[in-house]
Amino acid sequence: MRQIIAGNWKMNGTLAGLAGYAAGLRHGMEGLDLSGTELILCPPFPLIRPLAEAVGDTAVAIGAQDCDAHRKGAHTGDVSADLLAEIGARYVILGHSERRTDHGESSSAVRDKVRAVMAAGMVPIVCVGETEAEREAHEAETVVRAQLAGSLPDDFAGIIAYEPVWAIGSGKIPGEEDVAQMHATIRGFLKRRFSASGGTMPILYGGSVKPENAAALLAIPEVGGALIGGASLRPEDFLAIAAAAKQG
Ligand code: PEP
Repeated sequence: MRQIIAGNWKMNGTLAGLAGYAAGLRHGMEGLDLSGTELILCPPFPLIRPLAEAVGDTAVAIGAQDCDAHRKGAHTGDVSADLLAEIGARYVILGHSERRTDHGESSSAVRDKVRAVMAAGMVPIVCVGETEAEREAHEAETVVRAQLAGSLPDDFAGIIAYEPVWAIGSGKIPGEEDVAQMHATIRGFLKRRFSASGGTMPILYGGSVKPENAAALLAIPEVGGALIGGASLRPEDFLAIAAAAKQG
């Protein structure tokens, strides 16, 4: 199955830095066989259009990191899914733990956003994951199943990203058996909830993925790719992870 390698730039990146990033990406992609890999970059909102233009001659798709649930209207400071699609986004990350924590986003709020993204013709990447305390209390699977149940509408078609909150930006990663077990749990949930389509929805792993650990993580059963924060800010690291996906 195709591996999806998605970069989440978070609140990083500048207009001035885009040309250099795109040149690095283009240079790094020369001679790299990425035929079985879907590459996605999700910059901050103002960089979506310029990044889409800067990498338009490559196979890299562009996504956003959030959107509003409403189609339009009196929602100061928010951005609609339709506008994101119009400016070149094809994917939207939703329910990232930083949004669930910093902005108090509930799973039902995430579900409303998923509906808006699908209505705009884009693909939602829905993030779920437990905190360290929840894992230590042996509640990780219960928490993730509840997040999935609350965040996914009945007609969901998209991508899931399992991101243990304690692994994001920390350099810590779960053991391979823990990743395998959680991905199997998520797959079981998706199959029960969505029947046949639940068997093929990609499930990404996210949390401190680096070139050094990518091959091992991406070879774990049911890991259909990676969501990458810090390491996506350098095109050479992002591509090294994509190359590892190819081997996995
Ligand atoms: C993320 O924010 O989605 C993420 C996985 O970050 P990092 O790779 O830096 O841990």
